[in-house]
Amino acid sequence: MNTAEIKKIWEDVKVELKKVIPAPTFEPWVMPLEPISFEDDQFTLLSGEAFGVEFLKRNHYKNILDAFKIRLGREIIVDIKFDKDLSETIKKQKQKVEKQRQKEIEKEAEHKKAIINQTYVESMNLNLRYKFENFVVDDNNKIAYAASKKVAENPTALYNPLYIFGGSGLGKTHLMQAIGRETMMKDGLKVRCVKTEDFVIDYVSSSGFVPNRSTAVPMNKFRNKYRNVDILLIDDIQFIENKKKCIDELFNTLDTLYNSNKQIVLTSDRLPKDMPEIPKRLRTRFEQGLIVEILPPKFETRVKILENFSKEKGYQNVPYEVFEYIAKYYKDNVRELEGAFTKLSAYSDIQGEPMTLEFAKQVLKCELTSEKPDINTVLKTTAQYYGVSMDDIIGTGRIKTISRARAVVCYIAREKLAMSYENIGKYLNKRHQTVMYSSDNIRNQLNSDKTLFNDVSLILKTLNLI
Ligand code: ADP
Ligand code: MG
Repeated sequence: MNTAEIKKIWEDVKVELKKVIPAPTFEPWVMPLEPISFEDDQFTLLSGEAFGVEFLKRNHYKNILDAFKIRLGREIIVDIKFDKDLSETIKKQKQKVEKQRQKEIEKEAEHKKAIINQTYVESMNLNLRYKFENFVVDDNNKIAYAASKKVAENPTALYNPLYIFGGSGLGKTHLMQAIGRETMMKDGLKVRCVKTEDFVIDYVSSSGFVPNRSTAVPMNKFRNKYRNVDILLIDDIQFIENKKKCIDELFNTLDTLYNSNKQIVLTSDRLPKDMPEIPKRLRTRFEQGLIVEILPPKFETRVKILENFSKEKGYQNVPYEVFEYIAKYYKDNVRELEGAFTKLSAYSDIQGEPMTLEFAKQVLKCELTSEKPDINTVLKTTAQYYGVSMDDIIGTGRIKTISRARAVVCYIAREKLAMSYENIGKYLNKRHQTVMYSSDNIRNQLNSDKTLFNDVSLILKTLNLI
């Protein structure tokens, strides 16, 4: 009888055996049996397990004979023999299977770890692009950098809170995220990073009144989220102004963390003293630790930032003069600096042109757009537009049109010329708080007041600022 036939018989017999031999015996002892011959009414099976042979012969020999009888319709002799070679093969096979299983377990564990890490990172709201290693340090940000590094190395409320202050696009979020990243990686501490707007939204939805629902559970969840951490990082804290209810919650959150020596990091585009709408007790909290300022980066720093940025985006051979060209014109905001490079690289990709200086000039036209008007021109144009004199604006008159024109000058000088409140105040002969208040007022009303929007747009157009 040929091997295939023998195997077939054995497969059929196994089906019968499976019905009568319990799985804990069937799997380890019957399954590995190898049929090798069927001659003269003797069917021979090999086993690689000496103990298995003994066990089957003693306990299931009759079952085996019966199963063959069912299959063949007659009684035959069945021999089960121990085979050394088969034993070795089985051993090897077992090892292989075990190795494979181990590999799969490891793979699964790794996969799980990756998922956990990813969800973990996401749950903390961290953006892993922001690292200390890719932050370019110079005199204008070195204190902020050093303080952030110190906090990340030792987040034990040494400076609590650490308050990072500076204009838009100067790296506040970058440093704050880098602290979060480092703390999480090195110490495995519980990190929570949140934008102020998200904190507010989270608070409102956790505390909001919904009929038939108690707010106790969501509020507990909310508090647990922000208080049960080792380090809480809140971005753009200036947005908390005017959010009365939320201010109380923020105060209590900071208080709880502060009292249990947990690290707090805040960022803002203004100093605590320049947020008059925030109650004194909270402002005092903000001022209690260390306030560090980031100023716009120097020329060499801007070039270095662009160089790193282009490499990060996969552009290797950009001529140095292209970086210098962009850096020369984008001085006050690193986000805009990077934005200019992104625009250039997109044009270069789409048009298939190399990023030469010529091409950069052609695409970015920095010479034209950089001719920003000074505050004097802003003042003159705005006065003309509203039909008042420049002296009116610099003066103290409170007639509606004059106040409006004055506020618009503050807004444009701050938002479009990136001047500090102090400098605008000096020029207009006003306190810097007044400048800030006026500028904020215009910004807040622009979306809802159509006339104001049109007025400001026209003035900006005249000034070549849009
Ligand atoms: P902010 O929060 O102060 O408005 P961001 O931290 O969002 O500014 O920074 C804007 C962009 O500029 C980010 O892409 C950031 O990585 C980059 N950036 C700012 N400062 C630096 C720096 N010193 N070195 C490297 N990149 C910087
Ligand atoms: Mg930011």
